[in-house]
Amino acid sequence: MASVSFRNVEKNFGKFKVIHGISFDITDGEFVVLVGPSGCGKSTLLRMLAGLEPISAGQIGIDETVINDLDAKDRDIAMVFQSYALYPHMTVRDNMGFSLKLRKADKEVTAARVADAARVLNLDALLDRYPRELSGGQRQRVAMGRAIVRDPKVFLFDEPLSNLDAKLRVAMRAEIKALHQRLKTTTVYVTHDQIEAMTMADRIVVMHDGIVEQIGTPLELFDRPGNLFVAQFIGSPAMNVLEGTLKVGADGNWVQAQGQAWPAPRVARGTDGQKVHYGVRPGDLKLVGEGQGVPAKVVVVEPTGAETELLLQVGEARLVVVLHGRTAAQPDETVYLSVDPKCAHLFDGADGRRLD
Ligand code: ATP
Repeated sequence: MASVSFRNVEKNFGKFKVIHGISFDITDGEFVVLVGPSGCGKSTLLRMLAGLEPISAGQIGIDETVINDLDAKDRDIAMVFQSYALYPHMTVRDNMGFSLKLRKADKEVTAARVADAARVLNLDALLDRYPRELSGGQRQRVAMGRAIVRDPKVFLFDEPLSNLDAKLRVAMRAEIKALHQRLKTTTVYVTHDQIEAMTMADRIVVMHDGIVEQIGTPLELFDRPGNLFVAQFIGSPAMNVLEGTLKVGADGNWVQAQGQAWPAPRVARGTDGQKVHYGVRPGDLKLVGEGQGVPAKVVVVEPTGAETELLLQVGEARLVVVLHGRTAAQPDETVYLSVDPKCAHLFDGADGRRLD
């Protein structure tokens, strides 16, 4: 097991800078997810840690050692790719044992390690098959088995579930998490899927355009996003955001937006008349009795069984509401919305930073 550190890490491809001085630490045994939209640089950061891409500036360390100039094969890292990268002409057993064979490990040791990994991953019955004889989920498990057999200091995953169908993805997500709880190997996992990040991570690193927007536990990012980008990236359905003006009153704050007054929290950095982004999560908008809240017109009602999603229109803005249970609301009807001010989020209208 190992800790990992990034110190002012930069990456240029020619004149094009894609990583702008990133610094953070990963503690021993932690499961960290790098998440962000396509092109934000998360794979590049992972590949630099793996030794597959040179580092343009800064330092990457494992434990106390700077590894910038260490060959990939000497970093004691195992990586699982989206494409699985299995050898088609080798059985599952040989695929899993291949890295140990390359290192000329003892045959019995190799066989025992492969057997252990196969047991952990439920692959015992498949050891003599070839990759073409496996389903996508099974191939992915073999790719993980190959990484486990090496017993590395750090596991790296680069979008390992993107080629699987939705149901299998959910199942594999839980399997990878359970595996980590069992092995406790330091893990860095890259995905563009914020739900994967939320469900698997000890801590999430949200990236955007080659910088880190915020680092925190899933619930820290959900409850107190540090800026508008994180607020809208983390959470599904995404946070509703209205452009408005902050009004500071003696008996509480509100935001004037779309011709309505919206309850807002007290914030140290907010001043009366300031332009703000007003954010409310879909689960924090409540329906109340006629005339008791902000009127909104129902556009679409989507029941999913346990929950109901409503798409509403307020002025020019569309809002999403998630209700527990069911509703009698119908399209074109008017409903009334209330917000607990403590559940609303305020971001500076100019730079998007959280105001409290
Ligand atoms: P995705 O989820 O789409 O894989 P990502 O966040 O992993 O995106 P990277 O693959 O790290 O993004 O790419 C970051 C930026 O670097 C992108 O703008 C990409 O076009 C650029 N880039 C990546 N590899 C190279 C390369 N070999 N040469 C030039 N530019 C590159």
